[in-house]
Amino acid sequence: MANSKFEYVKDFETDDRLPRCNWIVVRIDGCHFHQFSADHAFEKPNDENALNLMNACAVSMLEQFPDIVFAYGVSDEYSFVLKEASQFYQRRARLSHNEYFHWKEFFPHKDLKRPPFFDGRVVCYPRAKIIRDYLSWRQVDCHINNQYNTCFWMLVKSGKTEREAQEMLKGTLSKDKNELLFQQFGVNYDKVPAMFRKGSCVYRDKVEEIVKFDESRNPVRRIRKKVVLGHFDIIGPNFWHEHPEILEE
Ligand code: ATP
Ligand code: ATP
Ligand code: MG
Ligand code: MG
Ligand code: MG
Ligand code: MG
Ligand code: MG
Repeated sequence: MANSKFEYVKDFETDDRLPRCNWIVVRIDGCHFHQFSADHAFEKPNDENALNLMNACAVSMLEQFPDIVFAYGVSDEYSFVLKEASQFYQRRARLSHNEYFHWKEFFPHKDLKRPPFFDGRVVCYPRAKIIRDYLSWRQVDCHINNQYNTCFWMLVKSGKTEREAQEMLKGTLSKDKNELLFQQFGVNYDKVPAMFRKGSCVYRDKVEEIVKFDESRNPVRRIRKKVVLGHFDIIGPNFWHEHPEILEE
């Protein structure tokens, strides 16, 4: 079997191994989620259950794959950062993995009409600094989109047509949008949930856990690494100063 005359077709496969000494980012993005979110009646602009589902999938990814050191998600996309020395799947660029099967946990009363699809792309970055800039790029995008979408859906829900809402927001700056939210709807944008404004970060952190109780019923604590989820600013230096081990070279 191994050496049949047909074996040569294997040589037509191109080598897709990524260069060594590079951080790897895999970004997946839901295909046609505009339609998918409409078909499943997602709350606009942010369906919390749908975001929680994406986050649960990401947590489960970090729990399964130690080479993923950080993940950042917003809307229908998630970026996974793999450490520099990762030998995950021999650094092959083409891979697939499905975690979206957590659907029922988050939408117990809603049927999944069709399986979602995600496109994935892989990019190599030679330095941790560029990984930080990459993540900042995604978080800036999250902010811009969310501020716009928050205004847009407030206007639509208050009776404007989608076209009217679009016209009203055309050319507005960030501060104009904050102003609009506050003046017309009494919404302080800074009070919008952090998950919507900042997106979601998944990483490993040291947590102290009670593992058992000794003979005198005193708790025995142990520090262990656990996959955690949070909604932080990752553009400024604070988060990275507090978690230097994540992007340690
Ligand atoms: P493409 O296939 O090119 O990615 P798309 O329709 O998925 O197209 P995106 O630019 O990826 O478009 O945008 C994602 C869409 O899915 C947006 O319209 C967004 O409003 C919607 N969406 C994704 N997640 C949620 C959510 N949690 N709540 C509400 N809407 C969501
Ligand atoms: P949202 O998902 O909230 O609509 P978005 O439209 O800004 O956000 P996506 O469509 O999800 O973003 O894509 C993320 C980023 O990836 C975009 O800002 C764009 O620069 C880039 N991008 C999207 N599609 C492609 C593509 N087919 N090829 C290259 N880059 C792309
Ligand atoms: Mg897209
Ligand atoms: Mg999409
Ligand atoms: Mg888009
Ligand atoms: Mg998207
Ligand atoms: Mg964008």
